[in-house]
This record gives sequence, C-alpha cells and structure tokens, in this order.
Amino acid sequence: MIRLEGVTKRYPNGHHGLVDVSLTIHRGEFVFLVGPSGAGKSTLIRLLYGEDRATQGDVMIDQFRLGSMSLRQLPRLRRKLGIVFQDGKLLPTRTVFQNVAFAMEVVGASKKDIMRRVPQVLELVGLRRRRDHYPDQLSGGEQQRVGIARALVNQPTYVLADEPTGNLDPDTAADIMRLFTEINRRGATVLMATHARELVNHLQKRVIAIEDGRIVRDEARGAYGYDA
Ligand code: ADP
Repeated sequence: MIRLEGVTKRYPNGHHGLVDVSLTIHRGEFVFLVGPSGAGKSTLIRLLYGEDRATQGDVMIDQFRLGSMSLRQLPRLRRKLGIVFQDGKLLPTRTVFQNVAFAMEVVGASKKDIMRRVPQVLELVGLRRRRDHYPDQLSGGEQQRVGIARALVNQPTYVLADEPTGNLDPDTAADIMRLFTEINRRGATVLMATHARELVNHLQKRVIAIEDGRIVRDEARGAYGYDA
C-alpha cells in the first residue's frame, strides 16, 4: 500500500510542490495522476521513490516510512518500485538487452537469472526482435518500451510513471497505455502522471487530480476533466 498523510513539500526557493496531501493507493490499483503543469505530479512521484523528502507529513510504501528511512534502506525500497520516465533515459552505448540487463546487474542478480528474465520481459513489451539494437536505432515508442522493460525486469510491486506517453504520437501512446493496463492486469500497482486526456477518459480508472499542490478530485472511475 502507498500512503501519504498530510504531506507538504516545500522547495528551498519557496515553491510548494505539495500542500497537505493525503491519499491511499491499495495494491493492484491503477491510478492516473492528472493536473496542469506545475501542479505537483512529479513532486509526488519523486517523494515516492525517495528522490526527494517531504517537508512535513508521512510517505509510506508497505513497511517503509520514507521520512525516517536511512539511505541504506533505499535500495530495498527501490526494488519494490519500477520507475518509467518521459524519455526512456536509456544508455546510448548499450543494446536493448544490455539496457534491461543493467537494471538487474545493479541489484546483484546472477547471470543465469538475467539470461532467463530479460528475454521474458522483452517479449512482454514486444521487443524480442529488437534485443540487439541500440537506442538510436529505435522509434520513440520502442525506446519507451525499453524503459518499461527495464522498470519491470525486477518484478516490482509498484510501477510509477511520470508522463510516459508525453513524447509519443497518439497511436503509439495508446499502445503504451495498453501495455500499462496489461502490466496492471498481471498484478502490479500502477501510478501514472499523465496529460493523455483521451486515454484517461477512455480507460475509466481511478483519477486523482491535483492543482497547485493539492488534491482537488479523487474518483474511482474518473475522467481527465480538463480542457487542455
Ligand atoms: P508537475 O509535475 O505537475 O508539472 P512539479 O511537481 O514538477 O509539477 O512542480 C510543482 C511545483 O513545484 C511547481 O511550482 C514547480 O515550480 C515546483 N518545483 C518542482 N521541482 C522543483 C525544484 N526542484 N525546485 C524548486 N521548485 C520546484
């Protein structure tokens, strides 16, 4: 379970990332985080993967209480999380296979496990035939699939995605969104910040809307709800 209780994030320059935010996301949910640019979506996601700390309040993921967690525990938390960014943040000098394998190497997986698991996850994201390509030989959608494969390879409980379709054309974005719903169907909890209005409206998942650092709406089968 992901839980925020009275979370405020103030940046050193005085900007408010989040103001008194409380929410609970249960295992297995699929949640869209929507809101205008600057609303606090990325701040929320960064707090969850321990990239930033709340100024006030508690952020909890399963047994981890992020505010009082030592840096030593961070790798254990991160193993529960798969993180997908807008740009895939791929290593340009490594192949698709190596990019995905790298995420297993850094957590100390054995070569045998890597050789078994990476092909499975490349199959899941539809990149089996691209395994020996380099990132610059791939389309934007394929690059994003590599990013997703890398996020999934250690079998995370939670998948956090910050505008994963932001750089993609509508058809490719729809494909990527389908992939996330499949990932959720297979058991991962998904939290996705997005501007993909039509896709959010189509999928009828839980929608949490934030504006100016505050939750303004939280609907079980929601819509995007903005014009832009
Ligand atoms: P969103 O992801 O919804 O576009 P952000 O979480 O990036 O919103 O930003 C929320 C607010 O926090 C904005 O006012 C932004 O300027 C501010 N902010 C975000 N990151 C930083 C930072 N590293 N330093 C200072 N202010 C920040």
